[in-house]
Amino acid sequence: MSDGSILFLCLVTLIIFIALFLLVFTIKRINNLFNYFPSKTINVDITNRKISDVNEALDYYIINFGVEEIINHLIVIKKWELEIYEKYKDKPKKLDKVLGRIVDNSGRAFNFVFYRTQTRYRQVNYNKIPYKVNNVVYKFFMSEKAILDRVKFLNNHDLYVTYNQFQKKDQRKALTPKLREMIKQRDNYTCQICGKYMPDEVGLHIDHIIPVSKGGKSTPENLRVLCSKCNGKKGNTI
Ligand SMILES: [Zn+2]
Repeated sequence: MSDGSILFLCLVTLIIFIALFLLVFTIKRINNLFNYFPSKTINVDITNRKISDVNEALDYYIINFGVEEIINHLIVIKKWELEIYEKYKDKPKKLDKVLGRIVDNSGRAFNFVFYRTQTRYRQVNYNKIPYKVNNVVYKFFMSEKAILDRVKFLNNHDLYVTYNQFQKKDQRKALTPKLREMIKQRDNYTCQICGKYMPDEVGLHIDHIIPVSKGGKSTPENLRVLCSKCNGKKGNTI
C-alpha cells in the first residue's frame, strides 16, 4: 500500500468517528430537549438490613440519611425551572408545553436504588478471588412531594425507626401482662391447637394468630394460648 492510501484510510476512519460522535451527540441533545428532567439517582446500601417493602426502604433512607440530599436536589430542580421560565417568558405557548412536561416528569425527580452487596468468588488458576456484586432489591421513582409527605408522616410519629419497626414494637408493647392474663384465663391455660392443659404455665405461650411481622395486632381476637411444641411448629411453617 502506498503512503497516500494509508493516509486516505486514516482520514476516512477519522471522519467516520467524528460523524458517529456528532450523531450520538445530536440524538442525545434532541432527546434532552424534549424529555429532559433533572432526576437524581440515590443509591442506598441495605446489606444485612431487613427491609420488607418499598415504604420501609424509603423510611430507612430518610431516618438514616436525613433530607439534605433531597433538599439540595430540590434546589437544582427549582433553579432549572426558573431558567425555563426565563427562557420562554416571551413565548407563552411554548412555556405551557415545557411546563406540562415538567409536571409529567415530576414523579421521576428521585430515582431510588436499594441494593445489597454480595461477595462472590472467581476461580483463577488455583486461587479463589473474591469480588463484590450489588444486587438491586428495590428500585423506584419518587416525586419530591411523596418524599416530603413521608418525612412529615415520620416526624408526626416521632419515629427514629421505620414505620414497620415502630408498628411491630408497638404491638409487642401492647401485649401487656394484664392482657396476657386475660387470654390465659379465657383459653383456660389450654393449647388452642393440641389441647394440652398447662395449669402451671410451663411452656405456655401467648401467640399472635396473625404474626406481628405480618401486621397482626395485639388484640384478644388475634391472641391465643399455645404450648411450646405447637408454637414451635407454627414458627416453622410461617
Ligand atoms: Zn399444643
